[in-house]
Amino acid sequence: MRFRSDDNVLIIKGRDRGKQGRIQRIFVSTNRVLVDGVNIVKKHQKPSQGVRQGGIIQKELPIPVANVMLVCTQCNKPTRVGYQFLADGTKARVCRQCEEVIE
Ligand SMILES: [Zn+2]
Repeated sequence: MRFRSDDNVLIIKGRDRGKQGRIQRIFVSTNRVLVDGVNIVKKHQKPSQGVRQGGIIQKELPIPVANVMLVCTQCNKPTRVGYQFLADGTKARVCRQCEEVIE
């Protein structure tokens, strides 16, 4: 997985193309990410135990990682991600645009 939670990503495919958002959750097994405010669906919810209020609720659904690009924290551009080993042996993500390490 190229992404981590709290990463800022740009949506490059689908209905929400062009939007940016923060990753809330990552679903490794399905290769999907849940992004704040992206891929919102309206769901008709019946009142039940645990859900006091019925009616229409809005909910984000996870989208495929292939539909998003990481936005670099250094240069603020959407970028592909490279990897680099740091001096202490840890693997770090690197921006392909500005070659800086992405936290
Ligand atoms: Zn960059």
